Amino acid sequence: MAFSQRFIEEIKDRNDIVELISKYVALKRAGSNMSGLCPFHNEKTPSFTVFPKTRSYYCFGCGAGGDAVSFVMGLEGLGYRDAVEYLANRAGIPMEDEGEARPRDEVRRDRVIAATTEAARFFYTALVSPQGASAREYLEKRGLDSLTVRRFGIGYAPDSWDSLARHLTSKGFTPKELEAAFLCRTGKNGKLYDIFRNRIAFPLIDPSGAVLGFSARRLNEADERKYVNTSDTPAFKKSKFVFGLNIAKNSQEGSLIMCEGCMDAVALHQAGFSNAVATLGTAITSEQARLIARSASTVYLCYDSDNAGKSATLKGIRLLGEVGVNSRILNLGEVKDPDEYIKKYGASAFKRVLADSSGQIDYRLKEIAANFNLSIPEEKLRAFDRMCEYAGSRQGRAEREICAARISELTGVSFTAAAEGVERKAHLASRKTVKEQETKGIQEALGFGDKVNRDRVRLPAATMIEERVLGILLVRPELYSTVSATLTEDSFLTDFNRKVFALFREDLEAGREITLSKGGALTPEELSRVAGMQAARLSVQDNSADSLAAYIKSLEREKMKADYDADISARGVAALEEYIAKLKKDKKSEDGNNG
Ligand SMILES: [Zn+2]
Repeated sequence: MAFSQRFIEEIKDRNDIVELISKYVALKRAGSNMSGLCPFHNEKTPSFTVFPKTRSYYCFGCGAGGDAVSFVMGLEGLGYRDAVEYLANRAGIPMEDEGEARPRDEVRRDRVIAATTEAARFFYTALVSPQGASAREYLEKRGLDSLTVRRFGIGYAPDSWDSLARHLTSKGFTPKELEAAFLCRTGKNGKLYDIFRNRIAFPLIDPSGAVLGFSARRLNEADERKYVNTSDTPAFKKSKFVFGLNIAKNSQEGSLIMCEGCMDAVALHQAGFSNAVATLGTAITSEQARLIARSASTVYLCYDSDNAGKSATLKGIRLLGEVGVNSRILNLGEVKDPDEYIKKYGASAFKRVLADSSGQIDYRLKEIAANFNLSIPEEKLRAFDRMCEYAGSRQGRAEREICAARISELTGVSFTAAAEGVERKAHLASRKTVKEQETKGIQEALGFGDKVNRDRVRLPAATMIEERVLGILLVRPELYSTVSATLTEDSFLTDFNRKVFALFREDLEAGREITLSKGGALTPEELSRVAGMQAARLSVQDNSADSLAAYIKSLEREKMKADYDADISARGVAALEEYIAKLKKDKKSEDGNNG
C-alpha cells in the first residue's frame, strides 16, 4: 500500500463523507443513512445512499459504490493517488511521501497545475504590457472590456520562441514538468521552446478554480492552426472539461448556453449571458454531459449550422437526454455564431432567440423531414414512417400526442392517422424492450454478464453466501475474531471473493474499520461490488455473530458439494461405478448386521 494506515485514517477523519458528498448531491436523511439522486446515473427517485456508519456510499440503482476516495476519483476524474491528494488538500493535511509508489520520472498533477497557473500569470502580464498591443487591439475589436478579460484571466502568449520557457525555468520548473504540462517542447537542438506563440490565451479553469491548461487562438490569420489547445496532461482531460463552467455554475439561470468555442462563450458573457460555456472541439462527451447535469437542467445548444454542427447537436441531445438534461436548439438563421448575432442584432434579440428555441422533439422531426423530398408521395410516406418511429420511442402518451400533432403539420397527414402511426410504433418498441428485458433478467439470474465475479454463473449459491459473509465482516470487522479459526482464504469458492477477503484481512484481523478504496487495489467496478455487499448488510437488521457463523457453515457445505462434484467429474464413470458398488456393499453389510 502506498500510504500509511495513519495517513489514510486522517484523510477519512478530516473529510466527513456526508459533508463531502453534499457538495455534489443534495442529501436527505433516510433513517440512519442519507439518500439523494445518484450523480453516476440519471434518476428521478433517489437510490443513492450514503452510510455514515461505514463511511461509504452505494447506489441501489446503478451499483456504483465506494468511499470518499473513490467518490472523488469518479466525480473529479482523478486517479487513486490524485484523489487522495485532493482530499488531503481539502482538509489541509500535508501529503505523505509515498516512497516508491510513484515512478520517479512521473510528473505530479500539482506541479502541472502550478506551472500552468504561473503561465497564466505570465500571459496576463504580457497582455497588459507594451508587447501585448496587437492582442489588446484584437480583444477590443471583439468587444471584450477589461473586466471580462480579467474575469476569464485572458492573456497573451508572446511572439517569441522561449520567453515562457525561460520564465518558468527561472521559477524552478524542470523541462520535464513543462513538457508534461503541455507548455513547452524540447527541440532537435535540445533547447526548450514554447508551444503557445503569438496567440490569445484563454485559461482552462475547472469549477474548483484550478488552471489546467489553455485554449489559444491565433492572432496572425496566416498561422496554420486557428486554435491550439492543451492536450491531455496529468491534470487535464479534454473529454471531461467544460470551458466557462467555473463562472456559469454560479449563474442563477438553471440553464447553460453551449457554444462551439471559447471565444463565443466569452463574447456571450460580455453581452450579459453569464451561463455560456463551451467544449473544446465540437461534440459533447458523456463525461461532459454528466458534469453539465450537476449545474443545469436545460442546455441551449448553439452550434454552427454545417454538417459537423448538426451531428454535434444530435449527439448532444442524446447524451444530455441520458443524464436527464433537456436540450433546446438555437436557430440563428443566416448568422454564423452567437457573437456575430449579438453584434448585428443586440443582446435582447439574442434573448428572443433563446425564448424561441425549439425543443429537441421539434428539432428531431424537422431533421427527419429535411432528409426527404416531401412533394413525392413515396418519400413522404417514408419520412412519415421515420417520424412515427422517433415519436413512438418517446416515453409518455402526452409527449407522443404532441409529436403526432407536429408530424401532422409537417407532412399534411391527418392528426388521427399520425396519432395511430405513432402509437403503433410505440407498441412495437415496448414489445421489443419487454422481450429484451426478459432475456436480460434470465441471463442475470444465471450469473451471465457478471464481469466482476466470473464464477457466479458456475456457483450462484456459493457466491451469494460468500457475499453475505463478506458483507457482515465489512460492516462489523470486530466479528472476525470470533470466526478466524474457521474462515480462511480456502473457505471461498470464487476467485473474486477470495481476493476481496485477502485484501481486507489485515483490517479484519485488527478489527478496524474497512477502507474500501484500499491502496487503489480494486477497479471501480470491483470496488462498487464490495460496497454493494456492505450496503446489502447495512439495509438488514441481522448482522449478528450467530448469523455470520451460520453463513460460514452453509459455505462449508457448498465447498464440500463442489469438491465432491469436482472429484466425480475428475475420476469419471469408473469412479461412479466404484461409488455405486461401495453403496451396495455398505447396504449388504448393514443388512447382514441386522440379520
Ligand atoms: Zn446510480
